[in-house]
Amino acid sequence: MSSEHDTSPVLVWFRRDLRLADHPALRAACETGRPVIPVFILDQQAEALGAAPKWRLGQGIDALARALAARGSRLILRRGPARAALEQLVAETGARAVYWSRAYDPEAIARDRAVKQALRGHGLQAHSFPGHLLFEPWTVKTGQGTPYKVFTPMWRALAGRDPGAPMAPPARLTAPADWPASDRLEDWRLGRAMHRGAEIVARHVAPGESAAQDRLAEFIETRVAGYDRARDFPARAGTSGLSDYLALGEISPRQCWAAAIRVEEEGATGAASFRRELVWREFAYHLMFHTPHILQQNWRPEWRGFPWRSDPDAPELRAWKRGRTGVAMVDAAMRELHVTGRMHNRGRMIVASYLTKNLLTDWRIGQDWFAQHLVDWDPACNALGWQWVAGCGPDAAPYFRIFNPDAQAGKFDPDGAYRRRWLAEGQAEPGADALAFFAAIPRRWGLSPDDPWPAPVCPPKRGRDRALAAYQTWRETKSD
Ligand code: FAD
Repeated sequence: MSSEHDTSPVLVWFRRDLRLADHPALRAACETGRPVIPVFILDQQAEALGAAPKWRLGQGIDALARALAARGSRLILRRGPARAALEQLVAETGARAVYWSRAYDPEAIARDRAVKQALRGHGLQAHSFPGHLLFEPWTVKTGQGTPYKVFTPMWRALAGRDPGAPMAPPARLTAPADWPASDRLEDWRLGRAMHRGAEIVARHVAPGESAAQDRLAEFIETRVAGYDRARDFPARAGTSGLSDYLALGEISPRQCWAAAIRVEEEGATGAASFRRELVWREFAYHLMFHTPHILQQNWRPEWRGFPWRSDPDAPELRAWKRGRTGVAMVDAAMRELHVTGRMHNRGRMIVASYLTKNLLTDWRIGQDWFAQHLVDWDPACNALGWQWVAGCGPDAAPYFRIFNPDAQAGKFDPDGAYRRRWLAEGQAEPGADALAFFAAIPRRWGLSPDDPWPAPVCPPKRGRDRALAAYQTWRETKSD
């Protein structure tokens, strides 16, 4: 049915690829010359998102809908199981083909496989395309033909590999004769679980493809050259700030890669370090694809049985979540999360180390907290980050590497600017960001900037000794 006389529409099913440029599925749909119907489906997987990523998804959908409208197209919104929603749209529109960009987590893979099978069973074309990664995970292999388990050799293998040139946005999106009905985005109330925090976090988010392109251009022009020197200092705007765009596919990793290569060739040394981080993202996806248990279980099986603490009501855990551990660097980073929906990578490593090592808490509890609060939440990067820090993941920090948050502060926040920016208690005139924390958090927490600064729930030295003792006992028990 794909002859040149076929005028039936092609459905393009958008998911974590909320852009028009460098979008192989959309490009292929436009190249058929047939009408294109862009669709977003709020299915169980999207419904299950945490509060902040779900709110951020709503922002991204809105931006994509506007971008499509500016080109005379529309984004059709439907709610319910993806297969039923697509079958319904096919019946309503007479579409003969459905295209989408691939996802790599086990739940989405199973869903997409079932959708493809059902659509093909009805005699339709159902095609999935690349776009979310630089390289498809099954095309990246060690010399022995196996998946990578260690980052550095994977980086060496990919540093010089060409992911291809990014595609321009389609010149034209042909509209169908009749548009199918669409839900209203407001009715989905994707931000409802954010409560009053949404208004605060919104100040730090600029959704959409065009904002993503502006951010990339600004980073490449002004900051990428110094990226390798500045990226570890949370008080400096040294990193790209592209993670929420990448997580939702408002920008493609290939666009970021190509922009970095361009300035690298002109001598910007930091650009290679930036590409290295994009390969960390690839590594996370590679691991999730080849070893999907990384999402839920200790990646290293020998860690099964490690005596993590998992009491959800533990006072130490509550203090960690609320940015009230009394350890300044940890609390500053946790507050950055509440106010901006993001956290600097150095902060992520420090708070994850403090939770899993000093407080001996199960990394999955931290993983879930981030999944609720990060606007850049990404299943693969989050799982790898937590397991890497906890020590039970691939290519992980060894168990005995326990960050001392105070020493980290001395090294990476030497003048205290980051801690001052986020911590109000004890400051005569706290700044706007430090105060915004109290407007972002739930009122029932009962916190105020006038509270006294808490004593540490677990001083770093005590936590370190306790963690090392627990590892020692665990290792001895295992080898009995
Ligand atoms: P830049 O330094 O500018 O890096 C560019 C891009 O490379 C990032 O946008 C991101 O896509 C990728 N990247 C950078 N560092 C990493 C990394 N360590 N692992 C994988 N990809 C990376 N990143 C997420 O996007 N979503 C998450 O849910 C997430 N959870 C994390 C949890 C923990 C415990 C840790 C330690 C790290 C986590 N990261 C996560 C990785 C990293 O902290 C963020 O990607 C980074 O801070 C985003 O800021 P940026 O865009 O300015 O990064």
